[in-house]
Amino acid sequence: MLNINFELNNELKNSYVELLCSTKFGNSRNAKTVKEKFEEYKELFGDYSFEDIIFIEPEKINSLIEELETRNPDGYNLKEIFKYDGKFQPLIAKFFERYVNPRICYYCNIDFINVFDEENNKNKFTLDHFIDKGRYPYLALSVYNLVPCCYVCNSKKIKGSIEFYEELKLRDTNPYSSLFKFDEKVKFKLFLHKNCKDLNIKSKDDIDIPLKERYTNEYDKYIEVFKLNERYEAHKDIVFDMIKNAELYPESRLKELQDLTGIPYQQIKQDIFSLIDEDADLSKEPFSKLKRDMAYELGLIK
Ligand SMILES: [Zn+2]
Repeated sequence: MLNINFELNNELKNSYVELLCSTKFGNSRNAKTVKEKFEEYKELFGDYSFEDIIFIEPEKINSLIEELETRNPDGYNLKEIFKYDGKFQPLIAKFFERYVNPRICYYCNIDFINVFDEENNKNKFTLDHFIDKGRYPYLALSVYNLVPCCYVCNSKKIKGSIEFYEELKLRDTNPYSSLFKFDEKVKFKLFLHKNCKDLNIKSKDDIDIPLKERYTNEYDKYIEVFKLNERYEAHKDIVFDMIKNAELYPESRLKELQDLTGIPYQQIKQDIFSLIDEDADLSKEPFSKLKRDMAYELGLIK
């Protein structure tokens, strides 16, 4: 649903490689790091280096997959090399926490990512393998294949159960990709039920707030997989409150408040409706896309 704005510079790349290589696998005498294991089977990867694969840009993942699948039709050895071992999980999570600093799920914009882990007395969050690590094991540690997300989106029922990449390979829906234009192309729309006459909306049951894509239907599958329309259905009260607020504070009332308080009209409007700036980072607050899209629907932003 939302893009992840995260660019890896050389310093970050070095520290990621370092953390991956801080763990060794195998029995103590010939234990190897993941990079050493890669070097051993280098010929399976053609011209791709270890770094090329773990930092593969989202737009180039498709061609990497095509080449490696052709080179290794049975894929047997590949599974062993990039194993996403339990030892990696806390290290990688720490890297993301520090440099991406995720707060809200990028897939749904509904839930906070961090949950409190009582056992270890700290916050933790899930990282989803955007492209299935079981089917494409060499992408298990690639930074741009790891999407911080909520437990619901990462659950088997939602995304886990389908071969997401297979379903969506014609379109780029990786949140890191510049080709992923969900927010731009798909908007929440406001529909009133037929029995709701003269815009007299009495309850949240009088409205529908489906996601609609303009001109094409590239993102239908995405909306379906994450059950976005069904899940937002439970949050129609947010929009209902916005509608009621808009009725309470029409333009004329806002102008009166400006005269009374001396506070600029735009500022009052911004505060009352908690309007979200055009260039605000939507990934920092839950429901921010819904609220911004609805502000347009209600004419609060033009
Ligand atoms: Zn989510």
